[in-house]
Amino acid sequence: MKIQFLGATDTVTGSKYLVRHGEASVLVDCGLFQGYKPLRLRNWSPLPVAAADIDAVILTHAHIDHSGYLPLLARQGFTGKVFCTPGTADLCRILLPDAGHLQEEEAEYANRHGFSKHAPALPLYTREDAMRCLKLLHPVPAGKPWHPVPGLNASLTPSGHMVGSSFVRLDDGSRSILFSGDIGRPNDLVLRPPSPMDGADYLVVESTYGDRLHKDSDPVLALGQVIKRTAARGGVVVIPAFAVGRAQSLLHCIEVLKTQGVIDRKLPVYLNSPMAAKATQLYLKHKAELRLTFAECEAMAHTAHIVESPEESRLLNAKHGPMVIIAASGMATGGRVVHHLKAFAPDKRNTILFAGFQAGGTRGALIAGGAPTVRIHGQEVPVRAEVAMLDDLSAHSDAAEITGWLRGFKSTPKQTFVTHGEPAAADAMRQRIERELHWPCHLPCYLESVSLD
Ligand SMILES: [Zn+2]
Repeated sequence: MKIQFLGATDTVTGSKYLVRHGEASVLVDCGLFQGYKPLRLRNWSPLPVAAADIDAVILTHAHIDHSGYLPLLARQGFTGKVFCTPGTADLCRILLPDAGHLQEEEAEYANRHGFSKHAPALPLYTREDAMRCLKLLHPVPAGKPWHPVPGLNASLTPSGHMVGSSFVRLDDGSRSILFSGDIGRPNDLVLRPPSPMDGADYLVVESTYGDRLHKDSDPVLALGQVIKRTAARGGVVVIPAFAVGRAQSLLHCIEVLKTQGVIDRKLPVYLNSPMAAKATQLYLKHKAELRLTFAECEAMAHTAHIVESPEESRLLNAKHGPMVIIAASGMATGGRVVHHLKAFAPDKRNTILFAGFQAGGTRGALIAGGAPTVRIHGQEVPVRAEVAMLDDLSAHSDAAEITGWLRGFKSTPKQTFVTHGEPAAADAMRQRIERELHWPCHLPCYLESVSLD
């Protein structure tokens, strides 16, 4: 076997690993690059392999930075199967068309307002492209091995990061390789913990929080404090959140806060994302993966008012606090939340609350880093609102939690490839694994190929 790293090197986005087994090629994850412009430009450059020559794709999970390149791969001639869990397939059916729609919308907006450097601005792919690639999805249950190509064994095991998320293990009879994808947290509020794994000859491990430890605080309490103090000054809490995963954790926390009487049950809470509402329904469908009871699931699904139409979304900007708005995207790179930031960031009574990791180069990272203004739709918007972070809701294991998961391996990998982290985080994760586990580690470069002997 051979592996080539086509993404998630020096960055948390663009996860794509090409595994060659004899004449066959399997792509593990098919993610979009996001964040810094040089990274985003990689989405437009051709892959080092013809799409038609890839035999199969296996997805660890449905987040766009792991699945969002599929519509392009299919448009470029990939016709093989996309293997993933039933949960991942369900989520891709809502996330990918939305990603296509967002890109069309951004391009259209840029053209209408004439602030694109390209004339006309083109979407990377369309909703139509995304709809077409969904036919390739081929769900396989977790825990049941199959052959993505002849001679190669594959299996998926739940990783606790979102509904459907899984570790991917490949084995050709003499060598095995394990892909961590994104590793969930042992004590997630909503999801069951990541499954223990036996290990493999080679390991590709994520390092999003490789240089950090999550605070040992209670996310429900922390969220309650932010909402209470913002509501006291009559402000609006705007929470950019991934429609899938983070949005559901937030809804669960808000429902708990209402039940505990920490926040008023009458405080208006808007979930301004029809997609997040659909994803919440899918969470209910796959509730075996959750640690919530049936009643808790139902309560989570009904705790917020769901904003459907773009018209109703625009009207929210004219409303006054106190209120809470949860809207996508999670790093404020697009989606309805961008319009809310434009409307609410200039007022110091309001709060912008980040509930997850903000990749470098995104609007979210700029605001979280304390930028006094942020560019939205070609305009400099002042940020006078309070900016707060809710790190505890992260769906990623921190450095110690990842190390804890690795300690459960029965065998030492011959080589561990540390990926899916900003450079400092990936290097800190490498050092920690070398120091605490004495495993050989390597930080692969973009497009690097390694033979798995
Ligand atoms: Zn993810």
